[in-house]
Amino acid sequence: MKPTATQLSEKELSSFDGGIKLVAYKGISTREPISTFAQTRQYIVPLQQHIGAISQVLVAPGDKVLKGQMLAKPGDLVSAAIHSPVSGVVTDITQHDIPHISGLADQCVIIENDFNDEWVTRQPLGDQYNETSSHELRNVIRDAGIVGLGGATYPTSVKQTEINIKTLILNGVECEPYISCDDALMRERAQEILSGADIIGHIIKARECIIAIEDNKPEAIKAMQEAIDHDGTGFFQVQIIPTIYPSGGEKQLIKIITGEEVPKHRYPAELNVLCHNIATAYAIHRAIYFAEPLISRITTVTGHGVAQPQNIEVLIGTPISHCIERCGGYTDDSDELIMGGPMMGFSLNSDNLPIVKACNCLLVTAKTEHTSRDKHLPCIRCGKCVDVCPARLLPQQLYWYASSKNTDRLIEHNLFDCIECGCCAYVCPSDIPLVQYYRSAKTTIWQHDRERKFSDISRLRHEAHQQRIDKQKFEREEKLRKKREMLKNKNNDKDNKKDVIAEALARAQAKKNDRLKDNDTETD
Ligand code: SF4
Ligand code: SF4
Repeated sequence: MKPTATQLSEKELSSFDGGIKLVAYKGISTREPISTFAQTRQYIVPLQQHIGAISQVLVAPGDKVLKGQMLAKPGDLVSAAIHSPVSGVVTDITQHDIPHISGLADQCVIIENDFNDEWVTRQPLGDQYNETSSHELRNVIRDAGIVGLGGATYPTSVKQTEINIKTLILNGVECEPYISCDDALMRERAQEILSGADIIGHIIKARECIIAIEDNKPEAIKAMQEAIDHDGTGFFQVQIIPTIYPSGGEKQLIKIITGEEVPKHRYPAELNVLCHNIATAYAIHRAIYFAEPLISRITTVTGHGVAQPQNIEVLIGTPISHCIERCGGYTDDSDELIMGGPMMGFSLNSDNLPIVKACNCLLVTAKTEHTSRDKHLPCIRCGKCVDVCPARLLPQQLYWYASSKNTDRLIEHNLFDCIECGCCAYVCPSDIPLVQYYRSAKTTIWQHDRERKFSDISRLRHEAHQQRIDKQKFEREEKLRKKREMLKNKNNDKDNKKDVIAEALARAQAKKNDRLKDNDTETD
């Protein structure tokens, strides 16, 4: 489905390369405040909900768990902890379908809710965070399983390792046309967001915090500004930015605010900047003031294919079917279920999947909104995709190399700089699903890379094994050789001794003979 676009002027494009102006449909899900709803019977909690290594499970089937209890610890430095959203019993740890672009199943902890809502013991730090070291605060954030909630799901504590960063940018841009969870959060919980931002500022020793919001969210801007006025420290400021998609991309937002570009393969910290989503700041506030791990998030359930679009505060692991049901269910002409927005989201084959930390939006389209052709037309080399690419790539070339599976050329043409914003596919007159080609090519390259690494590891293991065998063989042979040499030397010694004795005997005999000769001469 394509959101409606309006023409973009040269002036509006000045902030970063490319981009498009989209008509927002945020209003359909912000009519009501954020809602919560009754818990369900079963929760499906995937062990991989973040960028990095899979979490290491700490529970077993049959274990009783409390709400907020750690179910799995980080599997590596870049990884995240996973917690139980309810109190209950672990009934299974098994493969279950998850909302992922691959469409594949993954390892999940299944929890049967006991509806007692019994929390694990919690000791909030509260205002003491001001006297707590950056290192300790990062550990609290790590233990709380907090990841980037703008969709990237990069472990937050890992992102905060650099200190003395001048500017903290809070990303409240939310440029996808249907998503409104950040908008709703800013409207309703502005002070808590500022509190989380203050904690981040304390960790990284920031000197200022800029809260970036697109100009199509006046209520959120007003709420954040009021909270800043109430705070009165001068640390925070709201920066209103023009509504151009994808200004919420980290690199694009940094460019808009600082005028500088994050160099290729480098980090924003090199520009003295750190960027966090506003929902991440809110989660940090909950972790410090309530010792609450990341067990829930705000998700936008929207689109013309769902009866009551709204923002819901939902526990991680809740089945998506339950969320849709609580939003009035599907309409008669509902069509596609998408996780994320229409630009960067991906289609889900089923709603028997859990809400995960990355789930900022569930979009249900209506059949009438289906505008793209079932079969795309050939590329006509119009170059429209090049004009809108915010990463300064050549999308039609990437498409060409992706279709011909030319991995070398794809890498040469910086496929991995593609942020999958979908601008190119949006403007393509041939309706080529360009992003699908890029995602598929990236997955293939990653798979090959993993297989190559695996085969390199196997080869190295085999070589090390062979070297060990050769070394043992050499050592055995050397031992035998030395033994043989020793024996030989021993025999030589014996022979030498015999010779010496024989010589001594011969000398004694000769002396004896000489004496006898002398006696005979005297007798004569
Ligand atoms: S916009 Fe579509 S048709 Fe035009 S050059 Fe790009 S891929 Fe080809
Ligand atoms: S999806 Fe990738 S190639 Fe297409 S416009 Fe966005 S960054 Fe450029």
